[in-house]
Amino acid sequence: MIQTIAPRSLTLGHLYPDQLNLYGDRGNILTLQRRCQLRGINLRIVGLGVGDALAPDEYDLLFIGGGQDKEQAPVAQDLYEMKGIGLWAAIEDDMPVLAVCGGYQLLAHYYRPAEGPDMRGLGVFDAWTIHKGAQTPRCIGDIALRWNDQTLVGFENHGGRTYLGTTPPLGRVLKGSGNNAEDGNEGAVYRNAFGTYLHGSLLPKNPHFADHLIELALRRKYGQGTSPGEPGSLNGQFHPDTEDDHTSSPELQSDLASSLLTPLDDRLEWEAHASILERLGLHTEAAAALRNARDAVNVSLALS
Ligand code: GLN
Repeated sequence: MIQTIAPRSLTLGHLYPDQLNLYGDRGNILTLQRRCQLRGINLRIVGLGVGDALAPDEYDLLFIGGGQDKEQAPVAQDLYEMKGIGLWAAIEDDMPVLAVCGGYQLLAHYYRPAEGPDMRGLGVFDAWTIHKGAQTPRCIGDIALRWNDQTLVGFENHGGRTYLGTTPPLGRVLKGSGNNAEDGNEGAVYRNAFGTYLHGSLLPKNPHFADHLIELALRRKYGQGTSPGEPGSLNGQFHPDTEDDHTSSPELQSDLASSLLTPLDDRLEWEAHASILERLGLHTEAAAALRNARDAVNVSLALS
């Protein structure tokens, strides 16, 4: 077969960019865009506001950020009525979704604010959130958690306390509050949908998690690549007719893909990551994060 090749591209749907846009969550979009650009991957961003339908086939990954209760209420109704079916279809088809704070709460069963009626969620995560009133301290501050065998760092600012049913957490809290400042869980995961309270914004200081999302999207769209730089790899050009591979598990997809995505020089990102860990007194974890940076640079130099 004569390979016609084309650059790789992804489309990210940004849900409610005008309503759920507090706490600098837009930095997540900028990070994904930059990390794709540095690998020759064109990431197109499409905003989806109130009243816009969500056609899952038009996107490769989705992001929904955080906001105050007063912004969440109208969004909750629109999310359920206008985007719920499309979002469920995308998630069941292993599309990577990142949902932060208020967005995370609305992908669970419900959010019960301190005042007013419950906000109905999509129930993607078997979880629920209850704001216990002004007399209960908000969960605010730097936070670090264990994610797989690495750390994630960020900043949390939420009054709602989230409790998980059957849904596993994104990670375990090392320092900070997490879902509810009681059970040590932070976030939630269902297939390739990730809910978290980590603002910061999250991805600039967690390059490994940013790449995890990119890899999942590429793997889902383009299927298995070859070694870096060869036609068909995640870093080289791509034949658009390759069969999409939806058969292997999301974990396998990401593992296979992660060996194909060229490492970047993330020394600055890992130093920022380590500085949060140090601030939280997690010195061993900070040293491990800086080792990550050195290892990634060595691999990057070896491949260049
Ligand atoms: N309004 C919600 C709460 O306070 C979410 C806040 C946010 O998105 N940071 O729990």
